[in-house]
Amino acid sequence: MIKAVRGFKDVLPEDTVYWRYLEEEARTLFESFGFREIRIPVLEKLELFQRGIGSTTDIVEKEMYVFEDRNGELLALRPEATAGVARAFIENSLHMKDPVNKYYFFGPMFRHERPQAGRLRQFHQLNVEAYGVKSPSLDAEIMAMLHMLTQKLKIDDALHLEINHIGCPQCRPIYRDILINFLNNQKEKLCKDCKRRLEKNPLRVLDCKKEGCKNIASQAPQIIDYLCDQCKDYFDKTLDYLAVSEVPFVINPMIVRGLDYYTGVVFELTTDELGAQNAVAAGGRYDNLMKELGGPDIPGVGFAIGVERTVALMKKRYTLEEETPLFFFAVMGEEAKRVALPLALKLRQEGVKCEMEHSDKSLKSQMRKANKLKVRFTVIVGEDEVRKGVLTVRDMEEKKQFEIQAQISELLKLAEAAR
Ligand code: ATP
Ligand code: MG
Repeated sequence: MIKAVRGFKDVLPEDTVYWRYLEEEARTLFESFGFREIRIPVLEKLELFQRGIGSTTDIVEKEMYVFEDRNGELLALRPEATAGVARAFIENSLHMKDPVNKYYFFGPMFRHERPQAGRLRQFHQLNVEAYGVKSPSLDAEIMAMLHMLTQKLKIDDALHLEINHIGCPQCRPIYRDILINFLNNQKEKLCKDCKRRLEKNPLRVLDCKKEGCKNIASQAPQIIDYLCDQCKDYFDKTLDYLAVSEVPFVINPMIVRGLDYYTGVVFELTTDELGAQNAVAAGGRYDNLMKELGGPDIPGVGFAIGVERTVALMKKRYTLEEETPLFFFAVMGEEAKRVALPLALKLRQEGVKCEMEHSDKSLKSQMRKANKLKVRFTVIVGEDEVRKGVLTVRDMEEKKQFEIQAQISELLKLAEAAR
């Protein structure tokens, strides 16, 4: 028996109903904000992620699926979408073509992490990216949209919007030096990864999940105390826009994000309900990404929602079931099938969900199946019915049985009444 790759999971029909609900709600909401769907490839050149995400990040250092293709080109399965969307933006000169540069994207991402509950190697994200404007009101609007989605999904009670500002190329280096200084004095207590991060990417130490490092991080100087006037003003305005929009949030100076392209406002949507995996969505501003990738100097802001973790929260709160068929055709014999098949086809043409038996099972076994399917009407077609040109209908809800003419109009009348 060949099994699926470790950390890669099937999503079965009892779950796809949640996925679809989430996607449909997100699609409708994002489009009402003027976001348009973009689809990008699963594979990109390795260099895109090295330059976009940053070569000293966890994702690039140890989580990517990298391989050489038959031509010797180094490729990677996308670990996230922002770098790919930025690449598509530059390559298609979208800033020249589109008056509004707001895009959303759904799809699988790949990271070679240790699989556990809520952590997979193929997982899925909903992404939102807005390019072209740097403004606190846009940042607040995007966070409000994320909050609104969680309200529509009725999971907002499980979530906290945590927000921070990680400075700009002017003020962050000053803070960085202060942080390095502080961390150097505690170096012995840091984990192996953080000792390494200290020099290259010290802000990442604040993001470490290890208890020892968390302790040290909680006493570290905080970036909001070192923001330049411009950044401070930007952050204050963003928080004010959130407040007037009635979006609940908390400031968390530990939110620094693990990807190098972030600058300015960053945020995470976290929960206490999913054990160790507490991040459901994350985002922020990436004003230097486009330029970094050789494109125009265009700012950006966006977020990514983890689909598996969102669905886990939905399932804790409510049950979604697949739509049951309205009719089930229980048929006895080939002549009966000749009557039932065209009727079933016409029903579907009218958008009515129905199921027809194709195996030659007994009536009893077919009735059991109708029960299991939870249909409203079982339409029984046997020799008698064929001879008389009728259908025996059993109303499974009212527990009544009656005959109708074997005509589509009669079935449609029943469907109409059942609606
Ligand atoms: P984490 O801290 O859990 O590793 P992250 O900061 O690496 O998350 P992002 O890169 O910000 O995650 O991705 C955004 C969202 O995608 C996360 O908030 C999470 O919901 C989801 N996500 C990230 N990695 C995984 C994974 N391996 N399996 C399932 N979902 C994931
Ligand atoms: Mg991660």
